[in-house]
Amino acid sequence: MKESEDRREGFTDAFTLQRDPASEKLDVGTPAQAAIDIKRVAKAFGAGLTGITHYDQRWEYMRKFSDQSLKERAPEIPTGLDHVIIVAQPMDYGWIRTVPSALSGAATGLGYSHDALVVLSLAQYIRNLGYQAIASMNDTSLAVPYAIKAGLGEYGRHGLLITKEFGPRVRLGKVYTDLTLACDRSIQFGVKQFCGHCQRCSQGCPVNAIPSGLPTAELHNQSNIVGVRKWMVNGEKCFGYWIAQNSDCAICICVCPYNKDFTKWEHRLGRWLTATRLRGFMLWLDSTLGYGERMKPKSWWQGE
Ligand code: SF4
Ligand code: SF4
Repeated sequence: MKESEDRREGFTDAFTLQRDPASEKLDVGTPAQAAIDIKRVAKAFGAGLTGITHYDQRWEYMRKFSDQSLKERAPEIPTGLDHVIIVAQPMDYGWIRTVPSALSGAATGLGYSHDALVVLSLAQYIRNLGYQAIASMNDTSLAVPYAIKAGLGEYGRHGLLITKEFGPRVRLGKVYTDLTLACDRSIQFGVKQFCGHCQRCSQGCPVNAIPSGLPTAELHNQSNIVGVRKWMVNGEKCFGYWIAQNSDCAICICVCPYNKDFTKWEHRLGRWLTATRLRGFMLWLDSTLGYGERMKPKSWWQGE
């Protein structure tokens, strides 16, 4: 079997359909100017959020797995691609509220599809400028730590990225490149402290895959990263649930108080409260008003 035929299926497949970089490198100005231009182009392609950070070996997969030969494969990112552009795509708020359902599954699929469009287009754009660029989804590395380093958000108890703009309701993609770009700084807006108070995701998870206690470096199984103290999610339990119900699950995204439409001022006010001493009040208010409760798919179809 040829290496090129040894493909994974679905979101973890590597993207390979790209034309080679142009033979001459175009002058793109300073790293700061180049970063501004890249973000502008990413937005024009449809990116919800874009951040830039350095390549970091700690988050890269050491080996890949072949679904077809059931053997290890070497990672495919060549050396010298020192920058990583992280793209986040929001998922539909109404569809995610119906989780678990075909509608919420469609929200996930559409989020990844939009990601694919943006990272493939962006990678080809950079190649046309004469630089190396490789588009990637979940096939090469851990997306969440890269996104945190790139300033897109904070780490939540449910193990997901929480962005300021869309909460945890995003899907992530990335582009590795040798184009020198100014990097972003990580941000904080009170998520760590708020998650210390809130346990809605751990209480809502049907298979208890999300911890309710303090961050720890204790591992559940081989799927956890070694040497990092954090809220350690049991990914194998989570994925086992997906398999059992023959669909993905985003209950932890749906119930999260950060899963809001932040174009509304009252939700921006609520987000601000999460970073203050009134965070306990904010959590009580959020529950009292019924946020995080599941919407019946039928209600969505009826336009409620
Ligand atoms: S996706 Fe579902 S099963 Fe997985 S951690 Fe979240 S709530 Fe639990
Ligand atoms: S549901 Fe609560 S504890 Fe879980 S990630 Fe969201 S804010 Fe943090």
